[in-house]
Amino acid sequence: MNPYWSPVVRALTPYVPGEQPVIADLVKLNTNENPYPPSPLAIAAMQRELGDGLRLYPDPQSTRLRHAIAAANGVEPECVFVGNGSDEVLAHAFLGLLKHEAPLCFPDVTYSFYPVYCGLYGIAHRTVPLREDFSVCVDDYAGPCGGIVLANPNAPTGRALPLAEVERLVAAHPECVVLIDEAYVDFGGESAVPLVARHPNLLVVQTLSKSRSLAGLRVGFAIGQPGLIEALVRVKDSFNSYPLDKVAIAGAVAAFEDVEHFERTRSDVIASREALAAELASLGFQVLPSAANFLFVRHETEDAARLQAELRARRVLVRRFDKPRIEQFLRITVGDAAQCAALVAALRAILVRAA
Ligand code: PMP
Repeated sequence: MNPYWSPVVRALTPYVPGEQPVIADLVKLNTNENPYPPSPLAIAAMQRELGDGLRLYPDPQSTRLRHAIAAANGVEPECVFVGNGSDEVLAHAFLGLLKHEAPLCFPDVTYSFYPVYCGLYGIAHRTVPLREDFSVCVDDYAGPCGGIVLANPNAPTGRALPLAEVERLVAAHPECVVLIDEAYVDFGGESAVPLVARHPNLLVVQTLSKSRSLAGLRVGFAIGQPGLIEALVRVKDSFNSYPLDKVAIAGAVAAFEDVEHFERTRSDVIASREALAAELASLGFQVLPSAANFLFVRHETEDAARLQAELRARRVLVRRFDKPRIEQFLRITVGDAAQCAALVAALRAILVRAA
């Protein structure tokens, strides 16, 4: 440990992202990227941006993009905040809205970045176990909280909480902000955005990384009443007054405009998910119901670490978490038809050998 490190860094357990290999000939089903290319209109818009205009700073308020997001979501631009991926939006929300004396509450199991932000920003937190079937029960969050964070659909389980339950939670906790992280909502969840108008304590966070195939562009956003958005702007301005570059703004605006591409690719992912779930069940996997672009599965007899390693040896990457309760699960991103076929063929070969 380096002697110059601050106590915060000494105590920090850093987030370890899924493997991003440089070699291309892998079936990469480990980090929930979209298997389809981004909108061609978004690519063209970004290419148009690459010129002398890059000499100048971008719009610090990302006005065009906030307007595009507002229009797509039926809210006012004052209700929209944009950041460099939803991870950055979440970071600003943790610091600006969720750090209080009372502990921040989130489920155990959920997105593993949440405890990392708590460590980084010194936020007291309490985890609330998921129910036996990995569902969230809103009643388990009774009592005052400093804030509540739910990924809906949840990650890595893929399970979605019905909108009426989300509203029940938000209404039961007027004392704190309830943040709903909707990174995967477009694959079958119900968005809480329509609830924002009547709940001043609700913040909804989404990303262009998954359903818009733009993980490499790093664009995420939050929707909430202007009072909450103001807190995020204050944190952002003290941190990085230009959260998005010109290329990202142009690409993201066009991605919102290309509704046809968005609808087609997301329904293709949903159809592949259903087909893959059936295939995996026929191979002896227990498959949790998923409203996301991944499946959370556990084999009836085979060890998950061994399956992951054997898949890796066959050039198929899937994710596993070394965490109590879920260490026997694999999280498998839904790929295109060829990727799903390669995964199933590799699993068949591994399972035949084991039998
Ligand atoms: N929230 C959840 C639940 C996620 O799984 C992810 C992706 N790892 C993110 C947020 C962050 O996505 P991004 O920063 O690419 O927008």
